[in-house]
Amino acid sequence: MFNNIKKLLDWLDGKHNHPEVIFAQFNELRTKVPLLYFVLLSNVFALAYTHYEVAPTSLTIYFPAIVVFLCLLRVKIWLNFGSNNFSLAEARHQIRVILVVAVFMGLIFAAWSFAMYHYGNDLQKSHVAYFMSITVIGIIVCLIHLPAVAILVMATVGMSFVIFFVSSGNPVFIAIALNFLMVMVVLTLIMLGYYRSFSEVIYAKLDLEKEHAKTRRLNKQNTLLANQDSLTELPNRRSFSNHLSELIAVRAKKDFTGDNGFVVGLIDLDGFKPVNDIHGHAAGDRVLADVSIRLTEMLDDSCCLLARIGGDEFAIIVEKPLSAKEINILGKNITKTIQQPISMRSGQVQISGSCGFAIYPEAGTTPNSLMDRADFALYHAKEHARGSSIIFSSEHEDLIKQRSQVELALRQALTHDELYLYFQPIVDGQSGEIVGLEALARWNQEQLGQVPPEQFIPIAEKSGMIGEITQVLFAKAVKELADWPEHIYLSFNLSAHDLVSKAVIKKLIKIVGVRGVALSRVQFEITESVMMVDLEKCIEMTEWMREEGFKIALDDFGTGYSSLGYIHKLSFDKLKIDRSFIHNLTVDQRSQGVVKTILELCNNFSVTCIAEGVETAEQQALLLELGCIQMQGFYFYRPAELKELKLN
Ligand code: C2E
Ligand code: CA
Ligand code: CA
Repeated sequence: MFNNIKKLLDWLDGKHNHPEVIFAQFNELRTKVPLLYFVLLSNVFALAYTHYEVAPTSLTIYFPAIVVFLCLLRVKIWLNFGSNNFSLAEARHQIRVILVVAVFMGLIFAAWSFAMYHYGNDLQKSHVAYFMSITVIGIIVCLIHLPAVAILVMATVGMSFVIFFVSSGNPVFIAIALNFLMVMVVLTLIMLGYYRSFSEVIYAKLDLEKEHAKTRRLNKQNTLLANQDSLTELPNRRSFSNHLSELIAVRAKKDFTGDNGFVVGLIDLDGFKPVNDIHGHAAGDRVLADVSIRLTEMLDDSCCLLARIGGDEFAIIVEKPLSAKEINILGKNITKTIQQPISMRSGQVQISGSCGFAIYPEAGTTPNSLMDRADFALYHAKEHARGSSIIFSSEHEDLIKQRSQVELALRQALTHDELYLYFQPIVDGQSGEIVGLEALARWNQEQLGQVPPEQFIPIAEKSGMIGEITQVLFAKAVKELADWPEHIYLSFNLSAHDLVSKAVIKKLIKIVGVRGVALSRVQFEITESVMMVDLEKCIEMTEWMREEGFKIALDDFGTGYSSLGYIHKLSFDKLKIDRSFIHNLTVDQRSQGVVKTILELCNNFSVTCIAEGVETAEQQALLLELGCIQMQGFYFYRPAELKELKLN
């Protein structure tokens, strides 16, 4: 019982109402309360007027005068609220005041009208009944947003009206009172229903706002994730591209005042992959984070934007014109910064970085062309001197044109069957006997002449033609292999793109199968740069190829970054010492040292070693002395057409 009363009081007080509901109620009341007083006053005037002749002036003049004064006072207070912002406590307080004032005034009006009832004829008495019912209904309608007050008014004023008129004994008044009671009940129900919808709308609005806030928060997070590299917290490729496009759009405008030139730079780390492979991914991440911090500090200039656009690739935009000299200095600073050793738990790591720059608008006027040009310059920097920087120039433009010419011609070369093979024997250095033949691609193009493989193979790789070229040339090589004596094997060069899936290798197996040759007579040469593209994949593929029966040779060994670092991870049968070490073998102690170390390594791993590029008898003698048996080079044979070689 006590609990229920407490609940009722809490409800009347709106204690559990959400602040938003209270504010909404208060806002509604700002306009409704003055209207309510207007209704009240007009009712009072009407009743005072009809009773002027019959009732004492205290009731028809003084009372209304006091009421008018009080009502206008309240109206003034409410109008003063205007559209000021209210605190929750103030709004709550005003609602409580209404509660008290409404009941208090209601009871005064009831007492007044009951007093008036005693004067006048039946018609005037009816006006009292009419006054009371219309006033109560008016209050309910005006305070529909505050059901607590409306119900209190009904319970006090409404009910005293009903009781008063029922007890009058007059059947007309009894009927009016009962009728009014029914209308009150219905009005209460309607009002409560309306109030429920009203508060539901507010709660729904609140939910919606919450959802909106959540969506906004998520959107913000998404934008951040979509535009930021999580490891280095630098802008990512997408963000970089957007920035570049926007910058070009601004600079391309005719009304851009000032010099519209700017510089795009691409930075690629050299030797990052071995760090990842040898020291683990955590170390790789550490290197990237370190490099990004150092570059950020070094490029501490509001004109510079640094982004990480790929695994070990960074990009910068310098939003002001720079001279070639300034760009070169910037490039030097960048490469120097990257070369600083990085301390790891497993020791110090040192990597280097190459840069390619493209200048807007000389090198290009679209994001793609600028990035391509910078990439081209970067590629050249890597090719010619790792750890250097190059600015895209008109010579590069010519090279690009030439390359696209070669690419076009290469497509035709496949359909016109212009590609063929030379073979270079691998010999037993002691007896001079041929043990194997390395197939080397040749291409004689009508206009371009003899295009060296070092030129067209990379183009074929970049343009995605290498897979087809490998298959065509391999089929030609295996066709020849089938006719060779059993003890001579075929050595065939594979590119990184040939090692991407088992499906590609399966095609090669099939090609051998068609000729009925044993897989063990085929050796694939794989260079370190091939392995560096994806070491894990390379390990997986070479292991599988060896299980199938093929032989694997590591080509150009010793030229890469840390050949010794991952060699134990690979499974292979032979190792070819790069010809650069053989070239200086007899004159350079360091080369001799490297060759000795590699030969020891081969001994430890029980793999055969082949020396490439043997050009002189001295080199042959020294290699034999060091314990290298298999050799290849111009001293024995130059690459040649098969018919020039005697195999039996
Ligand atoms: P590589 O695999 O190192 O091939 C050996 C290269 O050294 C050949 O150049 C060969 O002519 C040259 N050479 C052989 N003996 C000597 C020597 O005593 N002295 C000197 N200075 N050079 C010697 P080539 O034929 O121009 O091939 C260049 C590269 O092109 C190859 O290097 C190989 O990486 C690639 N290549 C050639 N054919 C193919 C192919 O069919 N597929 C793929 N993926 N790459 C190929
Ligand atoms: Ca080779
Ligand atoms: Ca080689």
